Amino acid sequence: MAVSGIATQNLSQATSDIAQQQFGLLISQISTQLINSTSAETQQHIEQALAALASGGRKDRCYVFLFDEQLTTMSNTHEWTAPGITSFKAELQNIDIAAMPWFFEQMRNQGQVVVDDVKQLPPAAIGFQQELTREGIQAMMAVGMYLEHRLMGFVGCDLVQRQHHWSAEDIQQMQLVADMISNTIARHRTETRLRQVEAELRLANEQLLALAHQDSLTQVANRRALDKSLKDELQRASRMGRELTLFMVDIDHFKQLNDTYGHRLGDSVLADVAEILATQFRRSGELVARYGGDEFVVISPLVDAATAQTLAAAVLYRVRALSYPEGAQITVSIGVYQCIPQAPVGADNLLQEVDAAVYQAKLTGRNQVVFVAN
Ligand code: GH3
Ligand code: MG
Repeated sequence: MAVSGIATQNLSQATSDIAQQQFGLLISQISTQLINSTSAETQQHIEQALAALASGGRKDRCYVFLFDEQLTTMSNTHEWTAPGITSFKAELQNIDIAAMPWFFEQMRNQGQVVVDDVKQLPPAAIGFQQELTREGIQAMMAVGMYLEHRLMGFVGCDLVQRQHHWSAEDIQQMQLVADMISNTIARHRTETRLRQVEAELRLANEQLLALAHQDSLTQVANRRALDKSLKDELQRASRMGRELTLFMVDIDHFKQLNDTYGHRLGDSVLADVAEILATQFRRSGELVARYGGDEFVVISPLVDAATAQTLAAAVLYRVRALSYPEGAQITVSIGVYQCIPQAPVGADNLLQEVDAAVYQAKLTGRNQVVFVAN
């Protein structure tokens, strides 16, 4: 009899060793999966890890709970249930931690909660015990998951049909899976944050780039953007043999306006004139830029002479229609230069020509358009 007893013992030890080996193999496969999982696969892979955990010792339910940032609520984020076992995941969301102080204290202080028999829980665990009883649980165990040494949640399992004395090995297996899952969640959180920071950086860069090409007072392009655009449009018009039109708009007696009504009104007038130009010239390829103090340049490809003159007249009219409580009356002088650019002609030549046209408009009485075509 004694011999047979030893044989039975040896057999059960051997069975346990094999089970242990199989579990180890399964866990290493799951670990590889988790390490390489993309955000989209994580949910599924964590649930597979829970299923693997369940297979080591026939568990009825395995799950992950995550705490919120303030450690005030917890939610059941992942779950595996054995066939025929009820899932409570849907209702176990944003659970108030304060309702189960004993459980939370154990988790915080010991990093684990091990319950062999729910009926044997101490009186202090009443809230927790009631919840376990409601779910029909007889035994359970949970171990903490940590992110940078901070408790972020736990992995646990329930037994519905029986009580169980949890062994050190059971707890160790659970800890292993908990560490794998918490590492995966931590990695995905870092990746998400990184993506957010990248997107924020990209946006900030775009804004910076836009600002570097914009005049801050009037919000239209600045001189740098004008130089670049003029060079590009000049080349394009020259290549295509099409006309390119430049408008130079200079506010009349602006210095006097500043002196009479103050610099602030002057600034408003600059912004208003810029807005008129920006709304008047909004076709593709057109650019409105602040060229100097009270001078704007507009580049307009592909307009014919008649259209160019109509557009200039419309600007003249709209500026005249501006009205201010102080009673200031605003006019502008506009030079228009249109040509089909030929090879040696550079941007500077065009600007000189349009500048000469404005000068002519000033000389002949301001508040008018001088159109020059070549
Ligand atoms: P004209 O009719 O011949 O164009 O005379 P003008 O007074 O408009 O021309 P002038 O070039 O003599 O004066 C331009 C003035 O624009 C001088 C400067 O004080 C003013 N100015 C330049 N930049 C700004 C600005 O950002 N805000 C304001 N309020 N004034 C500006
Ligand atoms: Mg002026």
